[in-house]
Amino acid sequence: VKIGTPKEVFPGEARVAMTPDSALALQKLGYDCAIESGAGMAAGFSDAVYKDAGVEVLETAEALYEAADIIAKVRPPSEEEVARLSGDKTLISFFYPASNEPLMEAAKAQGASVIAMDMVPRISRAQKMDALSSMANIAGYRAVIEAGNNFGRFFTGQVTAAGKVPPAKVLVIGAGVAGLAAIGTSTSLGAITYAFDVRPEVAEQIESMGAEFVFLDFEEESQDGAATGGYAAPSSPEFREKQLEKFRELAPEIDIVITTALIPNRDAPVLWTKDMVEAMKPGSVIVDLAAERGGNCELTVKDEKIVTDNGVTIVGYTDFPSRMATQSSSLYASNIRHMMTDLTPEKDGKVNHNMEDDVIRGATITHAGEITFPPPPPKVQ
Ligand code: NAD
Repeated sequence: VKIGTPKEVFPGEARVAMTPDSALALQKLGYDCAIESGAGMAAGFSDAVYKDAGVEVLETAEALYEAADIIAKVRPPSEEEVARLSGDKTLISFFYPASNEPLMEAAKAQGASVIAMDMVPRISRAQKMDALSSMANIAGYRAVIEAGNNFGRFFTGQVTAAGKVPPAKVLVIGAGVAGLAAIGTSTSLGAITYAFDVRPEVAEQIESMGAEFVFLDFEEESQDGAATGGYAAPSSPEFREKQLEKFRELAPEIDIVITTALIPNRDAPVLWTKDMVEAMKPGSVIVDLAAERGGNCELTVKDEKIVTDNGVTIVGYTDFPSRMATQSSSLYASNIRHMMTDLTPEKDGKVNHNMEDDVIRGATITHAGEITFPPPPPKVQ
């Protein structure tokens, strides 16, 4: 059985779903590996290093899809890519089935099995396959680096012979996986870091990373995170008002805002309004990690970096993991490799697509000619 990885076709995408290291691990599971020529180039992996790792290099995408039984890739497939999944091929990639129904129907019609990496249940046992988390971690780190790159001053305070430099003040809004990574990066660079989340249970994590949790003066404490599987629910209007009031108060003194607030299946909540941007000092930077879903900042322009009239830079890029393609490819390829380990209990190079397994079941969106999305809720937590 052969696992093949094509070059990503999404414009600008630099990641690749198989690395020389992951290929070695896949071969230990009994699989042959193939890659489309040049697929790893933008992530720093040449055809030659794949060859050295025992990977067959095929010249075209067509040849790759023809030869491989299992296709591992990063982005959801294009229509053309789905059309190449004929027979009983298996595709493993991000898919976002809830927003890509026609694509899912097309994959089913081809008779393909599709494992959506974004559907891996977020339970402890599946953490090694949790590509959403591994990519969010990178995005959070990179957001701070990007902010620093657009900020004209140090993060850390310094006393130099030439004078005293105050530390930068960073506010991270939303302390999920990406937010916590941003907080850790910001504090390690020496900035005074504040963080806010609607889930009060993250306060301890925020504080253990050396940042300060921004508490609201609000009696009936927000949502019950446990009731929504650890995800946020929309805030009440009163809570939101308190939150905006607090942010308005902070805006003039904050140098860098990193926003990561998301609510499943909704547009991103707008939390950093135009007047807050206007209240910020010139030279301040906002990096909006929610840009893909409309942005947490009212002025964010998706996929662009803008500078406002009052000199605030707003970064709305949506490709942070791709901007660190070597790292993100290594982690993503490793997530895929762990998925293959679960699919290959006998290490015999044969897929056992066990629909009784919660993780495999949860991530499988088409199988044996059926749509299997959405999955039933997982049995174990
Ligand atoms: P996410 O990307 O959906 O959201 C990012 C953060 O934004 C969340 O922390 C959310 O609470 C916050 N948010 C939403 N609305 C907000 C608002 N109005 N103001 C401020 N913040 C707001 O979340 P995620 O990073 O994918 O993680 C969600 C949860 O899943 C977390 O509890 C995380 O610890 C948990 N998780 C568990 C596992 C696992 O057990 N395997 C893996 C990953 C994540």
